[in-house]
Amino acid sequence: KDKIRFYLKESIEDCAKIIETQLEKSKLSLKIKGDKVSLFNYKNEFQQVILNILNNANDAAIIKKKTKEFSPWINVDIEKNRDSVEIKISNNCGEIPENIIDRIFEPYFTTKFETQGTGIGLYMAKTIIEKNMLGEILVKNINGGVMFIIVLPL
Ligand code: ADP
Ligand code: MG
Repeated sequence: KDKIRFYLKESIEDCAKIIETQLEKSKLSLKIKGDKVSLFNYKNEFQQVILNILNNANDAAIIKKKTKEFSPWINVDIEKNRDSVEIKISNNCGEIPENIIDRIFEPYFTTKFETQGTGIGLYMAKTIIEKNMLGEILVKNINGGVMFIIVLPL
């Protein structure tokens, strides 16, 4: 529960390892690139956030595959700035409709009625990043998918 020093890339790779079987099933390819950065912060909580985002992308890939054949991917890009780091997690698994994109961090907001979503994942992610780790989390649509941007102080 205490802060420790950890490498971002390695800690994200560990998350991918945990859901490896799921990612393989949906043929979701994952690439992690960028700067070698370590943080002194809450590693466990950070990994919960990453797991949630990867898992959501995996869900989105499964949902999109029902209507269309495509090759899903997730890219993680780690970008070091002077006193913060930006972690950009993007996927090509479909855009979020503009009328709901502002609501996805709300507790209990879910569009996954068949797949029994709880709507808690991104609420927890935002709480962890902003209240515990003193950073910021944003989402935006990119062409054909979404990008989550996490900014954390170094
Ligand atoms: P849940 O996964 O239980 O639905 P979350 O809080 O994790 O709850 O996500 C809330 C909602 O945000 C999802 O139901 C979905 O509509 C949307 N969402 C999150 N991540 C993505 C993504 N990568 N692509 C498309 N929609 C997403
Ligand atoms: Mg979720």
